[in-house]
Amino acid sequence: MEYRRLGKAGIKVSALSLGAWVTYGGQVGQEVADQCMAAAFEHGVNFFDNAEAYADGNAEIVMGNVIKKAGWRREDLVVSTKIFWGGKGPNNSGLSHKHIIEGVNNALKRLQMDYVDLVFCHRPDPNTPIEETVRAMDQVIKSGKAYYWGTSEWSAAEIVRADGLARQYGLTPPTMEQPQYNMFERARFEKEYDILYRELGYGTTIWSPLASGLLSGKYNNGIPEGSRATLAGYDWLREHVITPQRVEKVKQLVPIAGDLGCSMAQLALAWCLKNPNVSTVITGASRAEQVHENMKALDVVVKLTPEIMETIDSVLGNNPNKA
Ligand code: NDP
Repeated sequence: MEYRRLGKAGIKVSALSLGAWVTYGGQVGQEVADQCMAAAFEHGVNFFDNAEAYADGNAEIVMGNVIKKAGWRREDLVVSTKIFWGGKGPNNSGLSHKHIIEGVNNALKRLQMDYVDLVFCHRPDPNTPIEETVRAMDQVIKSGKAYYWGTSEWSAAEIVRADGLARQYGLTPPTMEQPQYNMFERARFEKEYDILYRELGYGTTIWSPLASGLLSGKYNNGIPEGSRATLAGYDWLREHVITPQRVEKVKQLVPIAGDLGCSMAQLALAWCLKNPNVSTVITGASRAEQVHENMKALDVVVKLTPEIMETIDSVLGNNPNKA
């Protein structure tokens, strides 16, 4: 495993990590979570991502149980949660001082931990002043309940504002963003956020590197039984993510993976890892075999020569830095 600094921060995260969305507390049970996290840990993964919203808090319970049962040293792990969607009720969501403090406290109980390493504001909250959120996050950090705080899917302008307010008032500035980044979703990560890497030394923990599995090639011949796109409530995936145009592009990328001697999933993950502004690629898996396959993506990165990257770009046709 390779370990990367989280931007300019001193903490190091495994270049490939594992998250709990869709799977833990929902699609798969405790046993599969045990197997997937054990497989990841065996490959050197130290970062495990979660959120208060995942399976209404059950994903944190499952992950906390796995970690407790496995007996891993807390020092060897980087665990995160994200605050925003804590439940029903006017004060159970968003980024108010109240919900941030209560949300973190509740997440820690579910995880059976005294602290998380990283805590994210899961989305920007138009109904709370950024200064209130920065002050609440500073309190979370100063109370030792989290070591670093960051944002998820905030605009670059909002992040710059949060950083500026923190510096103005002597509060803890944010450290990292959790954005979507994959072969199909590039503009924000590669263009809008450039200022964050250059000016703030921001780290990134990127999500849905396979676009929910699409970039593994598994949807090239229809929707396979048991895949994420068959789950109840995931119609949006079938309608907006697994589009015929995208499937067509994945089909054109498959021969490139073949020439490199890797699977399509490994090529798509390696392509994310190749970007130096990615601190960690958060993978997802519904079974341990996927973890074993995905972790080998690290070996593919060196094979991605400028020529191959150019060929991939020409298939995708969406490089935001090319007119
Ligand atoms: P991916 O895009 O990598 O999708 C993972 C899913 O793809 C798996 O659950 C599995 O689904 C399928 N898959 C994975 N590997 C393979 C393989 N080798 N071959 C075939 N199918 C495969 O990542 P996620 O969308 O799961 O996101 C990863 C993590 O990012 C989440 O767990 C979460 O922690 C974080 N996240 C954060 C968000 C945010 O707003 N901050 C939003 C979304 C995610 P299946 O087998 O069921 O088809």
